[in-house]
Amino acid sequence: MAYERERETAVQAVIDASKLCKAVQATLVSDETMAKKDKSPVTVADFGGQAVVTVALRRAFPNAPMVGEEDAADLRSEEGSSLKKKVVAAVNTILPSLGEDQVLDAIDYGVFEGGGTGRHWTLDPIDGTKGFLRGDQYAIALALIEEGQVVLGVLGCPSLPIDANDLSGPAGCLFVAVKGEGAFMRTLDDPTETPISVTDIADPSQASFCESVESGHSKHDDAAQVAELLGVTKPPFRIDSQCKYAAVARGDSSIYLRLPTRADYQEKIWDHAGGWMVVTEAGGRVTDVAGKPLDFSIGRTLRENKGVVATNGQLHDAVIEAVRNVLGIK
Ligand code: AMP
Ligand code: MG
Repeated sequence: MAYERERETAVQAVIDASKLCKAVQATLVSDETMAKKDKSPVTVADFGGQAVVTVALRRAFPNAPMVGEEDAADLRSEEGSSLKKKVVAAVNTILPSLGEDQVLDAIDYGVFEGGGTGRHWTLDPIDGTKGFLRGDQYAIALALIEEGQVVLGVLGCPSLPIDANDLSGPAGCLFVAVKGEGAFMRTLDDPTETPISVTDIADPSQASFCESVESGHSKHDDAAQVAELLGVTKPPFRIDSQCKYAAVARGDSSIYLRLPTRADYQEKIWDHAGGWMVVTEAGGRVTDVAGKPLDFSIGRTLRENKGVVATNGQLHDAVIEAVRNVLGIK
């Protein structure tokens, strides 16, 4: 098996970060959030998760840099001091011996610029922060990029029901995929892995699609028009984070639409690399809204792409045609 040690280390790191996130979500109080420059909420678990994953990866692979969503600048400031103490305490529940400086340095290790040479990790310690704060879905998303290509993806989904047909049943899933080796799901507690695959639906009218809960992240009106053009009648399945990729990969849904809400937004690599790998290895296809492959080789963002469309593969051309039509892409 390729990337065996990378896979094992990444899976364990995501499980540890998932534990931290679950514990924090259970005790979430309002003073643990503060406004980042872009006004998105940042939590103890965002910072703590990035520290936990980065430390584990650096211990095993000291030379692989990290493109992480967070940096520790806010925590190093005067006003971040009480949040910093909570972050260190949360990290210490997983890694008891880590001091304050080591935690901050680990978080700051995520500043790498990315690119198309060598290997680097990319991490979103809590993808779907808004879902996390609402008590809904979120994901810990980690991927390994080598020479600009994603080769390993892991998604921890602590609140995702294990059985999509039993939404009130037990939750806590992990998805893992290595290039060329298929996609697998396990629970957070049991290491037994089950292969997963996308739906076998070729007729769009039989398909369902998923999209962001947040209308600021994906244009709901445009998606409704795409659905109408395709003859999709099922209501959209709205779910936060890269759980959408997981839903397509294991066949809960056949289509994931992420349609741009503004012309200047650049998707971030940590919001897609892990999910891209899992869907691709489950037999699906992922492109941008024009049908172009996602380019993970040019830095921290997907600036050569607009939006994202993921499907079960069979439906991809039809969905892209409808999306291009609705968005007026020639
Ligand atoms: P989701 O949970 O799918 O709605 O996506 C959450 C991610 O959306 C966050 O991690 C942000 O990085 C990202 N995001 C923030 N603003 C936008 C935007 N205007 N368009 C698309 N994605 C965004
Ligand atoms: Mg994110």
